[in-house]
Amino acid sequence: MKLTMHCTGTCKQLEILSLRGGKWRSVAFPGLFAMLEHLSEGLILFDTGYSPRFAEATRRLPYALYRWTTPVETGGHLTAAEHVRAAGYAPEDVTAVIISHFHADHICGLADFPNAKFICSKAGYDSVASLKGLAAVKRAVLPDLIPPDFETRANWVEQCQEAALPAACRPFERGWDLFGDGSVTAVDLSGHAAHQIGVFLRGTDGNPVLLGADASWSAQAVRENRLPSPPAFILFDGRRDYKRTFGNLVELHRRQPEMRLLFTHCAEAWELCGKEGIELL
Ligand SMILES: [Zn+2]
Repeated sequence: MKLTMHCTGTCKQLEILSLRGGKWRSVAFPGLFAMLEHLSEGLILFDTGYSPRFAEATRRLPYALYRWTTPVETGGHLTAAEHVRAAGYAPEDVTAVIISHFHADHICGLADFPNAKFICSKAGYDSVASLKGLAAVKRAVLPDLIPPDFETRANWVEQCQEAALPAACRPFERGWDLFGDGSVTAVDLSGHAAHQIGVFLRGTDGNPVLLGADASWSAQAVRENRLPSPPAFILFDGRRDYKRTFGNLVELHRRQPEMRLLFTHCAEAWELCGKEGIELL
């Protein structure tokens, strides 16, 4: 199995918001998604990043508030579907999209993969499915980005086989074995969004890789145990859950400093997996 990460656009945010003690300067954070070339399951995506659909979905109020508060730049970047083509596949080849959570910057491309099943948390989906208008914007959700046939194509992680994780993943002990072969195991990373999930991928060296979505803004923040600044918590679903999940990531890094922790808005993840990618088991 091969993992690569691809950038679909950037969003601007103050560095100090993302990292306690950071600078008062605006930084462009990449909006990444991951491609997994799985030996038996075919092409799987983890999230789908931005696309020009973001601009369409935020044209009218109140959804325009999202675009004004989080300036997004997609010019010069390929969409997830275009990245799939550039890798030598067709969008129709994507068999599954794992959705970490339903913030707009993770689901802009869902409608581009007609044959994919959507693998996500049922509790996470239920927490946003009925949101509209301002209530949706407040939770960074744009209803137009969720395809109309979503529920018929959804596979809920809670219905996947529960499995014990290897000792290298402690303090994460259990997860959901998404494909029944131990290659991709989803774990709960609640806090940033309700019931957000990440996945541990089995590594060739016995050292798993974690796709951690938005549980941290960067790997640096985890290494240095630096939470986001207090005002950033307004953006999150649950302050206590965020801190618990972040604390688990810090503990994971303390025990396994070599483990690759890959986050959606982390430039390091893009550098590490952007070109050659990583070969996994
Ligand atoms: Zn998010």
